[in-house]
Amino acid sequence: MQRRKFLLSSAAGAATAALAPATLLASCTPKQQAAKATTPLNLCFQEGIALGNTLQEKLDYMESLGVTGLEVGGRGLAGRVDEINNALKGRNIRMSAICAGFDGFILAEDGQKDDFDRTMREIIEAAGKIGSCGVIMVPAFNGQQPCRPHTMDTRNYLCEQLHNLGEFALQCGTTVILEPLNRAECFYLRLVGDAAAIARDADSKGVKCMGDFWHMQEETSDYAAFLAAGKDYLQHVHIASRGRRKTPGEDGEKDNYIDGFRALKELGYEGFVSFECGCEGDPATVLPAAVELLRKQWEEA
Ligand code: MG
Repeated sequence: MQRRKFLLSSAAGAATAALAPATLLASCTPKQQAAKATTPLNLCFQEGIALGNTLQEKLDYMESLGVTGLEVGGRGLAGRVDEINNALKGRNIRMSAICAGFDGFILAEDGQKDDFDRTMREIIEAAGKIGSCGVIMVPAFNGQQPCRPHTMDTRNYLCEQLHNLGEFALQCGTTVILEPLNRAECFYLRLVGDAAAIARDADSKGVKCMGDFWHMQEETSDYAAFLAAGKDYLQHVHIASRGRRKTPGEDGEKDNYIDGFRALKELGYEGFVSFECGCEGDPATVLPAAVELLRKQWEEA
């Protein structure tokens, strides 16, 4: 009995010993180490986040915080191409993603699909003209009806439709970006890795995915979620506080992004981490504090 116990425990010990170095190696290869050391944190604000009454004032404010990306809504974007291009001239701020703004939805069973195709393509064309990295879309919110059923046929249909959209986006110099949400908003697509798999199966370099730290409450690991998408598919990131979707830092201890940041650094992620959030306190205080917090956690990651 003693001998058996000994054998079992030494076998377990040997297994642990054999596993430990391999696990450590797998978690950070020399290539990942190099990427970690050099990957910068590119912060971005949605237009409504920045202080200021005009776009110019908002951009001035962002520059004062070292925020280098701008995300705008897609609605009416075609009419804003010159305004945005002129406003960004000579600044250290680039366009990042365009947040939705289309009518209808891609999985609609009725005329809303035509509405989606028409308005989404208008936004994609405008996105290309302002140098955006992609137009964010959700396949179907829970409440949107009539919606194709959640079946294998629908997934195949989604991939086929996304392929066409992705190829169109590439011609325009941009992409379409699938955003997974949480189950209360979009049961159809909740996980970053699943969005990446759909992007892969759409078989177009114009189809990408993103992660939103708020919705990533669905994930078992921020680190694994971003790594699963990988650099080929991960095109954008949204961030908010993790308790109430306020500004990062406003939910105290909950606002820990280090695990996800570590994955972004190891991937050598070159996209933006974009504020999509509300604000509980005075934005003039809370926003600079959030920028500082995220830079500190990026360093720690
Ligand atoms: Mg989002």
